Amino acid sequence: MKKELYLTIDDFPSRTSEEMLFFLKKKDIRCIIFCIGKELAKQEDLAIKALSMGFILGNHSYSHKAFSKISLREASKEIRKTHLLLEKLYNRAGVARDKKYFRFPYGDKGDGMLGQVFTRGTDPRKRLKKRKIQKSLTELGYTNIMAPGVSYGYYKNYLAKERDVHWTLDVMEWCLKRSSGMFDIKSEADVLARLFSENPFDCRGVVPEEKYGVTFTSSNEVVLMHDCEQTFSPFKTAINEMLAKGCRFAKF
Ligand SMILES: [Zn+2]
Repeated sequence: MKKELYLTIDDFPSRTSEEMLFFLKKKDIRCIIFCIGKELAKQEDLAIKALSMGFILGNHSYSHKAFSKISLREASKEIRKTHLLLEKLYNRAGVARDKKYFRFPYGDKGDGMLGQVFTRGTDPRKRLKKRKIQKSLTELGYTNIMAPGVSYGYYKNYLAKERDVHWTLDVMEWCLKRSSGMFDIKSEADVLARLFSENPFDCRGVVPEEKYGVTFTSSNEVVLMHDCEQTFSPFKTAINEMLAKGCRFAKF
């Protein structure tokens, strides 16, 4: 698995955020950390610290609601509130915010598909709502990341063209948030076994390989992980193992 990985971390901040920042810094991993606005508002100093350490803070909405379940008006508010907070924090940190990134909670683009991106929704009203959300991201200056070498068809033809940042490889360490696990992932060993399997199943459904465009092993990946106290241990283990397997974390 000698891939180039674009690391993105969702749901900052948590009680282990500071430790996570130092862990990543020590390994010289620069990544995008997507923030939940209402939690960020309570920990502004931590955000300033992350920025001064060179991390990129992205917008992960204000209260982490599924965008398919809220109105267009509420969706705009969710984006704007965290947008303004991030503008203020970048200012306070004295760091130029030249890259603006957004990630939908649950990857749900607001089109009624609840984050399922392998097939697109067909309801015209919901598709229109999704387009309007994309337009408001554009107006605020949000762009996608450059992720060369991510060669899956569904990514290149769809996700890479959007104004939000999606992912191609969910580490699924978040399944260990529940002591009983989820999706048959019950231990760190299960997380790693899936991660390094030939074609890791995705919690959003197994997709026929032809739909990916290329096989799993040949593409770079936009990696999704989470900032979460309960899963900080598997987080560290997974990063260490990816490095040990010869993966390289790309610089944004
Ligand atoms: Zn999230």
